[in-house]
Amino acid sequence: MAEPVYRRVVIKLSGEYLAGTQSCGIDQSTVDRLAGELIAAQKLGTEIAVVVGGGNIVRGLEVSLRGISRPTGDTMGMLATVMNCLALEAAIERKGALARTLSAFVMPEISELFTRSATHKYLAEGRIVLLGGGTGNPFFTTDTTAVLRAAEIGAQAVLKATNVDGIYSADPKKDPSARRFDRLSHSEAIEGGYKVMDATAFALARETSLPIIVFSIAEPGSIGAILRRTGRGTVVAG
Ligand code: UDP
Repeated sequence: MAEPVYRRVVIKLSGEYLAGTQSCGIDQSTVDRLAGELIAAQKLGTEIAVVVGGGNIVRGLEVSLRGISRPTGDTMGMLATVMNCLALEAAIERKGALARTLSAFVMPEISELFTRSATHKYLAEGRIVLLGGGTGNPFFTTDTTAVLRAAEIGAQAVLKATNVDGIYSADPKKDPSARRFDRLSHSEAIEGGYKVMDATAFALARETSLPIIVFSIAEPGSIGAILRRTGRGTVVAG
């Protein structure tokens, strides 16, 4: 079997995916499956940090439309990401592997604060590190968080897990003529306005020369395949 080509990566898991077939909340069987996928991928020898979203619980923008201020709504969203991390941490540990949640917020009873040194330490101990709390700032997304954390901890790529096997010219579920890209530059990804990630995330990746690989998490073993560069996905780089 091919060896993984990355020493360290950040994987972005959307909160929405954790809901499974439910419209919101946490679907335990999905979380258990993801935990198994992460453990199998880590066994290949790549250090794995995971940025988890919160869209299955709260999105700041949606909350703000109901009259709560956007920064408060965003704080609620960031807290939701910590809940998702705790669910994933518990699932990973129940399967006998080691995990650790680090949060952008000080919450000593719940999780340690994210620092680069703590991340390096836990990754070196063989833990899957779960990064909660987003960037800690309103008006950002966990996609941007994934790129930011990857740059901070010296990861070699951001793996953006989605429901489709890459970036398409249009939504392939709605438009049968949608074209799939094998590769795009960061600038092309920004100019194309593809919905898969926000422009801030792509711009920060361009600034920090970080490749982003967009792939489908629905395929069993897809994380491992991307790590060995045998998987299907769109590479955004250069
Ligand atoms: N959020 C934020 N700052 C961040 C990251 C996230 O304010 O740095 C908030 C924002 O309200 C967002 C919510 O947390 O809607 C959940 O994150 P996101 O929408 O990125 O989750 P996903 O779509 O990946 O589930």
